[in-house]
Amino acid sequence: MDNDIGLQGSGPELWERAKKVIPGGNQLLSKRAERFLPGLWPAYYTRAQGCTVWDCLGNRYTDFAQMGVGSCVLGYADPDVNAAVIDAVSNGSMSSLNCSEEIQLAELLVALHPWAEMARFSRSGGEACTIAVRIARAATGRSKVAFCGYHGWHDWYLAANVADQTNLDGQLLPGLAPKGVPRELRQTALPFSYNKLDELERIASEHGSSLAAIIMEPLRGNKPAPGFLEGVRKIADRTGAVLIFDEVTSGFRMNVGGIHLTLGVDPDIAVLGKALGNGFPISAIIGRRSVMDAAQESFISSTFWTERTGFVAALSTIAKMKRENVPARLVHYGERLNSGWNELAAEYGLQIHVSGIPPLTHLALEGAAPMVLETLYAQEMLAKGYLLGTAVYSTFAYSDAIIDRFLEDSAPVFRLMADATRRGNAATLLRGQPIQVGFKRLT
Ligand code: PLP
Repeated sequence: MDNDIGLQGSGPELWERAKKVIPGGNQLLSKRAERFLPGLWPAYYTRAQGCTVWDCLGNRYTDFAQMGVGSCVLGYADPDVNAAVIDAVSNGSMSSLNCSEEIQLAELLVALHPWAEMARFSRSGGEACTIAVRIARAATGRSKVAFCGYHGWHDWYLAANVADQTNLDGQLLPGLAPKGVPRELRQTALPFSYNKLDELERIASEHGSSLAAIIMEPLRGNKPAPGFLEGVRKIADRTGAVLIFDEVTSGFRMNVGGIHLTLGVDPDIAVLGKALGNGFPISAIIGRRSVMDAAQESFISSTFWTERTGFVAALSTIAKMKRENVPARLVHYGERLNSGWNELAAEYGLQIHVSGIPPLTHLALEGAAPMVLETLYAQEMLAKGYLLGTAVYSTFAYSDAIIDRFLEDSAPVFRLMADATRRGNAATLLRGQPIQVGFKRLT
């Protein structure tokens, strides 16, 4: 590689350098160093393979942070996916003609989701949600959107915070700032809480005739209460709103496809992303023909939505997921982590709470200073060669031996945290600042 491409240096130094030329430091909130270990986080990588990451000083870590923010379900640089993509690159990943792999991927996704008949594609999750909402608005001729959870950075979504700065609180990322979003969009995005059907009922009775879409994750941290998803489906049918399941994060972890396939309720549109291309950018909007056809009556078009690598990566990723029964491995590793953490907590007398689906498990350290403890855990594990976050996305690249070692290495840290909690001195053990969660403007 050209020696001028790529930098060497410590993560904290590079991160400070980045913040001088890139507002916010990078392009994704979830990769900001302050969310992991302020002042200590390696922040930048030169190489990633399996579940191992090398930073810009050559230090090597096992990734229990987020595996490419949940995109690399098969592992980094998966040899099968890479081989397919390299072949596509060698044969030209861009051309004046379309690549036929997009037809194959559309047919495959529709076959995996029998209620769906058509697909459109884009590159990122938020972009795909925006396309889904546009299609719903085009199909219904209406403008309002009821939503639950996080769906990206676009105007239609952040409009929820134009009226009331707290509307997005409780929706995964509290405090998302709507500056730059037209005030005129006020009251177009209406939030409701997961498992609170009465909140959606209220929106339906006030805005039912102008409701274009209901968009939500079918499952995230909590399981749906009995009848909840069925109730949402009924409200969509009654009001004529398009039901969109955002499966950007939940898809391709518990099963090969959207998690809704296991929940017994079908949407009108589902949005897939993240794991779909094992780290290569590709997202999909799949849906019923009656709704998807409206995409032809709106202008939805972009040069790089036609680029070949994403389609090839997705085809190859799905083939491997099926061949190797990848979701079963993801569930297995996630369950092992959860029970391992619970056993350590019981052994050392630490209060924890584990939530989420096993392939995307969240560890919350409870007590007087949870952020301090989470920082301390990440700090001590970094010294042992792990990248650790509070959400662990399981990967096929793990093995039982890797999970065993991770739990063995965690044991003395659980003891340290438990002792520090009893003494009330956990904060004095931190070498930097505690992690920052939520959306905060970084200085
Ligand atoms: N929707 C959900 C449910 C997500 O979890 C995310 C990302 O975390 C998005 C949308 C946005 O996806 P992206 O970051 O690829 O734009």
